[in-house]
Amino acid sequence: MKEYFKHIYQTVSTISTGMNITFKQMFRKSVTIQYPEQRLQLPERERNRLFVNMEDCIGCDQCAKACPVSCIDIETVKVVPGDVVGKTGVTSQGKKKALHVTDFTIDFAKCCYCQLCVFPCPTECIYMTDVFEFSAYERNGLKYQFADLTPEQGAEKKEMYAKYALEQEEKKKQAAAEAAAKKAAEEKAKAEEKPADDKKETDSKTDNKES
Ligand code: SF4
Ligand code: SF4
Repeated sequence: MKEYFKHIYQTVSTISTGMNITFKQMFRKSVTIQYPEQRLQLPERERNRLFVNMEDCIGCDQCAKACPVSCIDIETVKVVPGDVVGKTGVTSQGKKKALHVTDFTIDFAKCCYCQLCVFPCPTECIYMTDVFEFSAYERNGLKYQFADLTPEQGAEKKEMYAKYALEQEEKKKQAAAEAAAKKAAEEKAKAEEKPADDKKETDSKTDNKES
């Protein structure tokens, strides 16, 4: 019987201790927030997901070279005469664009958010954003493509440049062949002039002897 009342006492006592703690917490200032409805202000120099403004990118590859984990892949194609990169062919700072950027991929599964790619950019077009919530079901889902040309447009630009390069090569070959032909003709003309001069010299010597 004594044991029975002891258990009742313990039950009531532990419940009231718990309720007491709960009741006290109701009047304390909360230390958590209702995320994602409520958000804390990010630190001034936070590092999050990168963004590349392709309007200003000149495809110089400086960011990729600076990346310690090689997670930036850039592919460029030279612009042929008469073609323009993007809408204007220049950056917002007036720098001329000489390359089409056909691929600009950043693999955020590899990125360590060191920001080293940001500093060498001559046009300040790669920068950290405030986006830190991004996830993917597969690793490839974290590869972000920033190039504004579609694969088809990229292939077209490559084809245009290949054709132009071939034409230039042909022109060079033709110019070299013409120069070689000209040189050969000049040498031939010189060789023909020489015997004639020798004959004149011999004739004049003979005339002198006879006189
Ligand atoms: S933040 Fe660092 S790791 Fe990420 S892309 Fe830039 S240089 Fe590479
Ligand atoms: S350094 Fe800047 S301009 Fe050069 S390729 Fe990278 S993002 Fe583009």
